[in-house]
Amino acid sequence: MNINENSMNDVHLTDDKFVLDRLRISLGEMYNFSQGILEKGEARGIAKKGDCMLKEKTAIVTGGTRGIGFVIAKKYLENGASVAIAGSRQETVEKALSELKEYEGRVMGIWPDLCNPEAVAEAFSAVRDKFGALDILANNAGISSRTSLYEYTLEEFSKIVDINLKAVFVCSQAAARIMKAQGGGVIINTSSMVSQYGQPSGCGYPATKFAVDGMTKSLARELAKDGIRVNAVAPGVTRTDMVAALPKEMVDRISAGIPMGRPGEPLDIANAYLYLASDLAEYVTGAILRVDGAAMV
Ligand code: NAD
Repeated sequence: MNINENSMNDVHLTDDKFVLDRLRISLGEMYNFSQGILEKGEARGIAKKGDCMLKEKTAIVTGGTRGIGFVIAKKYLENGASVAIAGSRQETVEKALSELKEYEGRVMGIWPDLCNPEAVAEAFSAVRDKFGALDILANNAGISSRTSLYEYTLEEFSKIVDINLKAVFVCSQAAARIMKAQGGGVIINTSSMVSQYGQPSGCGYPATKFAVDGMTKSLARELAKDGIRVNAVAPGVTRTDMVAALPKEMVDRISAGIPMGRPGEPLDIANAYLYLASDLAEYVTGAILRVDGAAMV
């Protein structure tokens, strides 16, 4: 009897140990296997430790050489996308690329005149040819203005309309033609908190951002049937060169009125760009997503 009981215990003990050993081996194998996949992916430049919300996607970020655009490009790269940085000059694009060396093979630069349809179409096709698709267009390039109406020249007004509005139209058209042919894509425009209530000088800037909101909503309706989502991000005051160029009292006054008590960081805006580009937002189109610490609520 004792012998039997003992032998039963032995059997249980042996089984438990056997099961535990198997589990340890399986967990070890799983860990090594996933590390292997990650390392192979990293070696091929298609994966990186952390989130990979845009794996195997290709994005173009206009104005991606600095400020919010550079952080959007980096966020997309961190999340597995291949990215083309579109800037106004070859030197600034190359400088940005030199800061993204760790993503070599997944990042390239282009510098077409964003208001020239032929040049943009050619550059966007080159991106599609290099990376195999064009899934995401981040229309981020923009310039600001504080000029009074009394001082505004038509030349200055035209310049702001060109880069903040006409370029959004030209780039969206070139991207949509590629996206439609491949079965879908995402366009994200950069609006601004001033598209809600204007600003007391530099009327050209809010005028273009109001127009960007209108274009976003219209294109969302027009392109939904082609599988193309179109949204905009409306940043509040965000710490970049554009804001550094404003008078300090103005920035302090605006910051004091932000319920969250601080201006935005480029990363706050880039995270919204990541969400809208990702499949998490697959039913979101025509939205103007405010990222402003409740400044406009
Ligand atoms: P920024 O001045 O730091 O960067 C602007 C980018 O646009 C630069 O990369 C610049 O090279 C590029 N650009 C300008 N003209 C161009 C041209 N002709 N061709 C190609 N690229 C050109 O500004 P930012 O603060 O990073 O602004 C980015 C976007 O965010 C803009 O559309 C801006 O209107 C918008 N925005 C900014 C704020 C803010 O507080 N910083 C607030 C609301 C909206």
